[in-house]
Amino acid sequence: MLNVVIFGGPGSGKGTQSAVITEKYSLKHLSTGDLLRAEMAAGTELGKIAKSYTDAGNLVPDEMIVRILAKAMDGIGQAKGVIFDGFPRNVAQAAILDEMLAQRGEKVSVLLDLVVPDETLVERMLFRAQISGRADDNPETIKNRVKVYHQVTSPVVDYYVAKGVCVKIDGTGSIEETSALVEAALDKLV
Ligand code: AMP
Repeated sequence: MLNVVIFGGPGSGKGTQSAVITEKYSLKHLSTGDLLRAEMAAGTELGKIAKSYTDAGNLVPDEMIVRILAKAMDGIGQAKGVIFDGFPRNVAQAAILDEMLAQRGEKVSVLLDLVVPDETLVERMLFRAQISGRADDNPETIKNRVKVYHQVTSPVVDYYVAKGVCVKIDGTGSIEETSALVEAALDKLV
């Protein structure tokens, strides 16, 4: 199976690129952010607790993420692989993902690191705020999400560099330009 981690700061284009490549490579798209937003929209107990973290731009506790992800992994069916979007968000989650995959005889095939400078991330999120309706797309929360990314999330890259599966992608171009780079990286693996 092709197990892809799409990685990068908030607003780096992870969701957009996932949508493009999910279809091309017959992958199952697992976005922990989307799974959380579905729990929140459904008003579940987990969703209510998660909301207090996401609204502030902080990470939801690992055990909640593991719970929703394990449920989603059970539903991957006949997909040729999985694209993990928004997970792992810290080094502990990276170890959890490796363990989850190992139990299935699998491992992370590649981590695609969409590299985008902070100013561009903030600009893109402020632009998205006008249309997304997301409670966490506001200036205060955006600032915190970028900070959390640098402090807690970005060390995940080093974790996978050490495993020799990290590919850096210039994420500053247009959607199509970035997709071309992403596809070139994936074509080497399939
Ligand atoms: P995203 O849609 O990936 O930008 O995620 C939106 C928000 O959901 C994040 O700011 C976090 O509060 C929460 N979230 C998403 N994925 C995770 C994760 N793997 N671990 C912890 N919190 C997460």
